Amino acid sequence: MAQWPIPPDLHSRIEGGPLCPFHDHSLGSRDGRIPRYDDSHACVRCVSALTEGRLTLDVHKIHRKYRRRFLEFWSFVDIGEPDECWNWQGNKHSKSNSTYFAIPRHWGAARQYSAPRVAFWFTWGDIGRLPIKPICGNNHCCNPLHWRARGVPHYHLNRHMGKIDLEFSTTKLQHETQLFLEATKEKDFKRFEKIQKANKLWIDFRMSSDKPVMLDDLIRSALMEESPFGRELD
Ligand SMILES: [Zn+2]
Ligand SMILES: [Zn+2]
Repeated sequence: MAQWPIPPDLHSRIEGGPLCPFHDHSLGSRDGRIPRYDDSHACVRCVSALTEGRLTLDVHKIHRKYRRRFLEFWSFVDIGEPDECWNWQGNKHSKSNSTYFAIPRHWGAARQYSAPRVAFWFTWGDIGRLPIKPICGNNHCCNPLHWRARGVPHYHLNRHMGKIDLEFSTTKLQHETQLFLEATKEKDFKRFEKIQKANKLWIDFRMSSDKPVMLDDLIRSALMEESPFGRELD
């Protein structure tokens, strides 16, 4: 998708806009509207958080309205160490191999956006349609530390702190997506099947990866090793 061209007078006017994914940005809003820049549509508070280098992966900071989408989104990210690329395992366009995640936004008719853009909105903040670029060069990467937004200065002196924080919060987020997938499977199987459809292998892997080792799994893998296919491997 073509990048939005930044106007020379970027972020000089503020208007009321719809709620942002971060719930404390709508505290004190009586009419359900929050301050946004009228050109990029970025949330004013998110832009200042980004400028200060604040970053979060905490689902409890997300507005209730966005929580399910937040967890669905992160269920498809191969969340790794703060220094690694976190590859997208969800939907990709078959022709261009570019990533996408369905999430409508208020400023345009598009119903889906690239996975890294959604990762950016959910971590650094709702920067609207400001252009973003990866410092790792990987367009499938959803590690927020690997992306920069154009048009906003990032204050990165806090990055070291951010990394320490990330190690804790990535583990937490992995656990939360796991619980989310299990709960959806149990309570809303139709929805779960829809999630699975994007990448069943990945979702199955994701759901079994955190579980303690079961006797059954051990027996099954022992049997696999004895099969002719297993022997071919060594
Ligand atoms: Zn915001
Ligand atoms: Zn990366």
